[in-house]
Amino acid sequence: MSTFKSRVLPFTFCTLIVLFTAEPANLQAADDALSQIETAGLLERISTLASDEFGGRAPMSEGERLTLSYLEKQFREMGLKPMFGDSYLQAVPLVSIEANPDMALSISDMEGNVHSYAYGTEVMLGSSQVSEKNDLNRSELVWVGYGIVAPEYDWNDYAGINVKGKTVIILVNDPGYATQNPELFNGNSMTYYGRWTYKYEEAARQGAAGALIIHQTAPAAYGWNVIEDGGKGPQFNLARENDNMDQVKAKGWLQYETAKDIFDIAGMDLDEMMAEAAQASIKPYSMGLFATVNINNTIQRAESYNVGAILPGSARPEELVIYMAHWDHFGTSQHENGQEGDFIFNGAEDNASGTAGMLEIAQAFAALPSAPQRSVGFLAVTAEESGLLGSKAYAAKPAYPMNKTVGGINMDRLNFLGKMNDVVVVGHGGSEMENLLAEEARKFGRTITPEATPEKGYYYRSDHFNFAKKGVPILYARGGTVDRDHGAGYVTERNADYVKNRYHSPADEIQEDWDLDAAVEDLVLFFNIGKRLADSNDWPQWFEGNEFRAIRDASLAGSGD
Ligand SMILES: [Zn+2]
Repeated sequence: MSTFKSRVLPFTFCTLIVLFTAEPANLQAADDALSQIETAGLLERISTLASDEFGGRAPMSEGERLTLSYLEKQFREMGLKPMFGDSYLQAVPLVSIEANPDMALSISDMEGNVHSYAYGTEVMLGSSQVSEKNDLNRSELVWVGYGIVAPEYDWNDYAGINVKGKTVIILVNDPGYATQNPELFNGNSMTYYGRWTYKYEEAARQGAAGALIIHQTAPAAYGWNVIEDGGKGPQFNLARENDNMDQVKAKGWLQYETAKDIFDIAGMDLDEMMAEAAQASIKPYSMGLFATVNINNTIQRAESYNVGAILPGSARPEELVIYMAHWDHFGTSQHENGQEGDFIFNGAEDNASGTAGMLEIAQAFAALPSAPQRSVGFLAVTAEESGLLGSKAYAAKPAYPMNKTVGGINMDRLNFLGKMNDVVVVGHGGSEMENLLAEEARKFGRTITPEATPEKGYYYRSDHFNFAKKGVPILYARGGTVDRDHGAGYVTERNADYVKNRYHSPADEIQEDWDLDAAVEDLVLFFNIGKRLADSNDWPQWFEGNEFRAIRDASLAGSGD
């Protein structure tokens, strides 16, 4: 299966060159290493990972077993060392929680009137706590606006109130987006404080029993259907020793109309409250209403795996530069009655391409005549599609401490449209990793371009984010906006076509018209960035004002992770 490329120069040839001068030999050897990244190898790897035999690479399926053994074999053949002690595999313990949809949210007022809201159409509810029963029993509703505690923005929506055992009602996104005021948070660009995951985490830190987020399509970046479809069925979580008892009991979303109704009952005007909450931290207060819900869960536990390999550094092996890509996808769906055809989610682009690209880069590093000064790691993570769980597990138990992890590159979908004049940076304005990218991209005549829709918070929606939360700056850059041969309109059109016709669908397969040279150019760029970082003393920092900068400062100053 593997096209393991010969990268050992004939002995006599090597010796000859070294006799003349070391410098050209090194250059020649570096070129030989780079030549390992090429279209045929890339396509072959994608074909394997995205094959029907691999069944769409669902965690805990036969497809996982095939994927793990393929990746491990590749790393082994390249001569790379196992990342986790003597193993290439890191266990990722998962637990799935499936809520019985037969439930409703009851809101009662002081007079004892009860209003009921239907699961699915009016509210979505679920649990993080791993427990068969998670009930709210007349839990007091508290309005907390955006539910943000951000000292660097001098913002605290929880000041002066104790929400222990209560249920908080929260707005999605952040005040910068709501007001479009560049002085508030990061203006139109979403900060982590705007993500729903943050809202639940903060509510739990405050001791709340329940957390309900008000849905609005624009600030959430997706419609109610995504919340409803995504919330039903088994929800995967990382299995933790405390069974997530430090999280809220009940979490979920309120349809905007549902929220409006609840605010009406409380004698409050939702739109007015929202406008007020966007201007400054609010004074949170009790709405005089009580929430009751009975959530019955089916719990299942299983293990999936990350796969990782290391090229040990020649001078400072304890410092790590990391490449990462998620190997998992959605597997194979059941045929419903009368349906025919292919229900395998091959995920050729998402993310067989990124995983294959990482292997190509790994092979190039393995072919270097001498290893870079710092160690270089290659991490294929699981369960990205279930909520970035493999990378979360790695971040909780990293092979190298986070304060020894210098930075890196995440690859989630390569660019096959064509060679670009630019490179798009997701989470632009984040860290000095961008400066490295800009300098290396310039050598290809390329500039860097911020992502078009920073308000959608894509930076928080792939695996690099779990590293950011621990302070490590990981670059997430892909493709471009202006195709060298076909211009800008072509790129917009083709991207829209992918999203409409292939994204997260069984049709995400290898395409006849893929421009593999374009993908290889990006991979060479990524190789150059990692190589340069691995041979330097640089510690790329988050830019001033970024929400992860303080975490990095503390991490580098201390001995913790
Ligand atoms: Zn992906």
